[in-house]
Amino acid sequence: MNILVINCGSSSLKYQLLDMETKNPVAKGLVERIGMVGSVLTHRPANGEKEIITAEIPNHDVAIQMVLDALVNSEYGVVKDLSEIGAVGHRVVHGGEKFASSVLVTDEVVKGIEDCIELAPLHNPPNVAGIKACQKLMPGVPEVVVFDTAFHQTMPAHAYLYGIPYELYEKYKIRKYGFHGTSHKYVSQRAAAMLNRPIEDLKLISCHLGNGSSIAAIKGGESIETSMGFTPLEGLTMGTRCGDLDPSIVSFIMRKENLTTDGVDNFMNKQCGVLGLSGVSSDFRDIEGAADEGNKRAQLALDVFAHDVKKYIGSYAAVLDGADAIIFTAGLGENSASMRENIVKGLSYLGAEIDPEKNKVRGEEIDIATADSNCRVLVIPTNEELMIAMETYDIVNQG
Ligand code: AMP
Repeated sequence: MNILVINCGSSSLKYQLLDMETKNPVAKGLVERIGMVGSVLTHRPANGEKEIITAEIPNHDVAIQMVLDALVNSEYGVVKDLSEIGAVGHRVVHGGEKFASSVLVTDEVVKGIEDCIELAPLHNPPNVAGIKACQKLMPGVPEVVVFDTAFHQTMPAHAYLYGIPYELYEKYKIRKYGFHGTSHKYVSQRAAAMLNRPIEDLKLISCHLGNGSSIAAIKGGESIETSMGFTPLEGLTMGTRCGDLDPSIVSFIMRKENLTTDGVDNFMNKQCGVLGLSGVSSDFRDIEGAADEGNKRAQLALDVFAHDVKKYIGSYAAVLDGADAIIFTAGLGENSASMRENIVKGLSYLGAEIDPEKNKVRGEEIDIATADSNCRVLVIPTNEELMIAMETYDIVNQG
């Protein structure tokens, strides 16, 4: 069975068509600048040249129609007709407290996702637009939604509640939700396979370090704590997001810099993090390059980030009462040997030690801990599209 995985943003749409027998993508692609001037679809068949198609793409209906046309195109398509697509899996950012697992799309489910728009005003509306476009263009093809928040719904109340009046949790659902759930779930399952141990027996600390970063404490395959919160702004210092702050800083900056609520929101999401600290870039490659050339602020940004990650690993080791493995994933976690080294240096109390030779490996699943390290250190390339496709496959084949 082929499964089409769709990830709709407000002006972009990423897709992959996966063959569930081989678990490999048959084609992938990206639609950019939806609703803007200069819209473009870049389609990449697994066994062929990439195709760039420019056209007016005013909305998600048109974007998805173009993706479907590309998939069946006689020149660069990968299937004969749409009947070869067995199901569609959609990434949805926020499922609130309603969705603790992936589900088949029904009218009630769409309504449930719409009810969560208040919690993710930028993300859930394009996600819903993608679902509705597929319903229209591929009638009868089952659709499944996979939520970024669902994996963290196993967190206990003492982990997800903030120190604010309980009435505000009841009234506005202000609590920690956590994100990157699909990635944390995928790498934790891969970790169990790599360690050749049942996931039920494992205590894992999963570090998803990319442009957005989060850490999760995973016990017996379930998330019991995570660093992102009510929104993806909480937790680690990120590419452009500030992460944890003393909450008083927000009103202080608003007064000093004359910022509105939207202004301060934009500031904390777009101008902070390692970009704001380094003054160089939000991209860790640029920052590492600048630090190598002696830029002190760039080095400081890297040091703040590594220190943050180390602090979270320590607190999650406390929450889990030890850890069998620390997992590194996402752009930075998978690729930066120096960042992994800086983070793990000084975690000897946990029994975690890196073998410098193994740490040089890139882009593949590998245990980089020394032979006698009690806590394993795993590098696992994340694959959210495959996880979405696997969940979609399981749900469609259950029914
Ligand atoms: P992601 O959000 O998972 O796509 O990760 C993107 C981030 O990973 C980029 O902004 C880079 O900062 C970082 N990254 C990717 N490759 C490397 C690399 N080779 N070395 C250091 N950082 C990298």
